[in-house]
Parts: sequence; C-alpha cells; structure tokens
Amino acid sequence: MRITSIDIYKMNMKLSSVFATSIGSIPSAENVLIKINTDENLIGWGEASPFSFITAETQNTCIEAAKFLGKLLIGKDPTAIEENLSLLKRSLPSHTSIHSAFDMAMWDLLGKESNQPIYKLLGGKNHQLRTDQTMGHEKSVEDVQNKARKFIEQGFNEIKMKTGRPGLTDYKHVKGVREVIGDEIELKIDSNQGWDLAESLKNARLMENLNLLYIEQPLPIWNLEDMARLRSKINTPVCADESVFNEIDAFKICKLGAADYLNIKLGKSGGIHTGLKINAIAESYGAKCMIGCFSESRLGLTAAAHLAIARPNIFFLDLDSAFMIAEDPIIGGIEFGKENMSLINVNEKPGLGADVKEEYLDKWTKFSIS
Ligand SMILES: [Mg+2]
Repeated sequence: MRITSIDIYKMNMKLSSVFATSIGSIPSAENVLIKINTDENLIGWGEASPFSFITAETQNTCIEAAKFLGKLLIGKDPTAIEENLSLLKRSLPSHTSIHSAFDMAMWDLLGKESNQPIYKLLGGKNHQLRTDQTMGHEKSVEDVQNKARKFIEQGFNEIKMKTGRPGLTDYKHVKGVREVIGDEIELKIDSNQGWDLAESLKNARLMENLNLLYIEQPLPIWNLEDMARLRSKINTPVCADESVFNEIDAFKICKLGAADYLNIKLGKSGGIHTGLKINAIAESYGAKCMIGCFSESRLGLTAAAHLAIARPNIFFLDLDSAFMIAEDPIIGGIEFGKENMSLINVNEKPGLGADVKEEYLDKWTKFSIS
C-alpha cells in the first residue's frame, strides 16, 4: 500500500462553553483533520488538537506543518509506522499535535489493511472503559458544587477540578466539591503549572484531608526537582502532565522520582507510537499512567481509547473533551453510555472504526497535497 495524497481540513467545532484553566482558556475547538488516501482505496483518519499554551502549535501552524510533513509521506507505505514517524520527527521536531494526527491515520490504515481494530494490533482485549469528567475554573463554590452534582447525575465517579490559582480559592472550591460529592466519588485536581513549590505545599497540606486521588502538574513544566521535593513532603500522589511529552521526559521524571503517575496525551507524545514508549518506561518504574486529551472530537478520543484498552497500566482516563464540543462530526468510533456518560465502548471495526460526516468535510476548508 502506498500513500497517494493527503487531505488536510480546518476542523472547526463550537464548544458548549469556554473552558478556563490556569494556563489559558479556549473559546472553540480549532483542530486539524488529516485524511491519508492510498492506492488501495483505504483511507486513514487522524486528528490534531493543538493547544498553543502547551504544544506551541496553533491550527494554522499545524496546517503548514501538515503540508510539509505530508509531502514527505507521499509514495510511502503508511503501515511502516516506526519508520514514517521517525522521518516526521526528524524532519520537524516538536509539533507533536500534528505528528499525532499522522500517527493515528497510519494506525487506522494498518488496522484497515489487516482487518483488525487498533487495540487488537496492540495485543489488547476489548473491555469497557470509564472516564472522569473535568471542570474548569468557575466563579464561586456554588458553581463548582452545581457542576459536580450534574457530573454525578450523569454517572461519573471520578471528578477532576482545574486549580492552580493563587490564594485560597482552589482550596475553598475543592473543599466545597468534596462536601457535596461525599467520600465515594474520586476527586483529583490539575493545577496546570500554576503554583510554585510553596503554593503547592500549602495547597497540598490544606487539602490533605479531602482525600485527593492525585495532584496533576502543580509546578512549571521544567521544574522536576521541585516536583520531586514536593512529592517527598506530601502524602497525595503527584501526576506529571505538561512535563512529559515523550519517553525521554518519562525516563527523567521516573529517575528523579518527580511523579507517581504520568499523563499521556497523544497530542503531546505525537501519537500512539510514543505513547506506548512512555507507558513502558512508567511501568518499569512502577508508575501508573493516565491518558488525557486536549479538545479532540470523538475521533482523537477513539485513538486514545484503543491505546488505553491495550495497556492496563494506563489506569486513569480523562477522555472527556467530546462533552464540551457542541457538535459531533464523527460516525462510529467510541460511544459514551447514554444512561451513564462515563462509560466508553470501543467497536470491533478495523482501524479506528470511525469516519467523518460528509456534511462537515464539505463545510471545512480543505488543503490537498499529492
Ligand atoms: Mg493536565
């Protein structure tokens, strides 16, 4: 099989509400859809969800990068994923969101060529998954409590709250949520690099009796030494997110003892290919992984779900971005439970088992390379 052409779409989707975190806010999902066409009439789909604050990419830089990288892949066998990904990473380092879109599309094609879902190619056994649900910064304790009540009604048993603000606001909001959800629901926080060591210690100690599952990325991306110090001084586990893009970051974090858990996001790792490596390193250090998302549609989330099914060490799931997108351009792929929205089912179709609705492809601006 050879790649004949690649279509790149400006995949614009409305959000149901603005999502605010300590690192930045996004008003809409401005993603990039990749369609790899081949000489065997098989197509591969991939999605990039650039989050400029973290991956230093925007929709427009992803599109330009995709045109450049796409040209390198014309004529290549898309199922030679290792070789192709190495070429893309060598030719344009960083740019992890757009790498992940190509990675996903190539796994989709490998699955379609071998008539197997991706999780099966990775040696996994299909099972139902369960995701948490995240709330961004809200104005008042009452607002976060109302959100938490809604999440529980929807079936979620794990809630993630965005923190990382100065002062006592985070503590008051997290305490307020714990009060309304009781002890049975898991609660965790994500500060998105918003605190320094002193603020992290203060908040972690204040929240000690709130039984948090973990504190995600309390400190700036580069400050692994203080993350290790923090971890040695508190009882709540620490999870690295923005600090871990690839297997080299994972190795450094584990060696320094800077985190209990590592958050894999395909948009940071550049796809499933490197996500597997991060998980393998974490597992060898006895560290569980989480799999998270940016603002992917159900297409990008489907790729993440296949990886999660295939590797039980990827234990915590934060695959909730589809809930904040007001439209659903995807056919097939993962399905969320109707009664219990936290449940995720992956279908048995080849590759990602997902397609994109024609009406959206007609609507989005398209660039083609061949
Ligand atoms: Mg995070």
